[in-house]
Amino acid sequence: MAQRHLNLPVLKEDCESCAALCCVAYPFDADEDFGLLKAADTPCPNLGSDFRCTIHKDLKVKGFGGCIAYSCAGAGQRITQDLFPDETWRDDPDLIYHMAYALRVIRPIHEALLLLQEAAKLPVPAEALAEGRALMAAMCPTEDRSVYDFEEPEVQDALAEVPHYLQSLAVYL
Ligand code: SF4
Repeated sequence: MAQRHLNLPVLKEDCESCAALCCVAYPFDADEDFGLLKAADTPCPNLGSDFRCTIHKDLKVKGFGGCIAYSCAGAGQRITQDLFPDETWRDDPDLIYHMAYALRVIRPIHEALLLLQEAAKLPVPAEALAEGRALMAAMCPTEDRSVYDFEEPEVQDALAEVPHYLQSLAVYL
């Protein structure tokens, strides 16, 4: 397979550049580490109008350990800045679903890229490294300004292949 240029996004969260998508997109269930129940695509009642958590310093004692553990792997600020650069769900509540949906699509891709980035440091043969790099390249589409770009079969097929690829590296370790 020809080697494609790798346009890797930032894979670490930057909450200051995000419209708090993680505090909106996901449902909180009773058996999870969240202090309240919440439906998907609904802002958490603890979220301030400035996209900051109003109980940030007390998350643990108030039973929100899940918020402490969570990372979007950089997907949140990418969606906020690149896919919806001019407005957020605060400006237009109809955007809640679209921005939250984008998080559900792109976060798994960023998490998979993080895993592949770590796997690339392993002492495995060059062919295996090239295979991992090809998967990373497939998950970094050149057109990346719409959630549809991340739903392309090439991207989704590569994402689905990542667990098998990582498992295949075990024989070298
Ligand atoms: S408790 Fe704070 S960090 Fe957790 S979802 Fe709500 S606003 Fe976000």
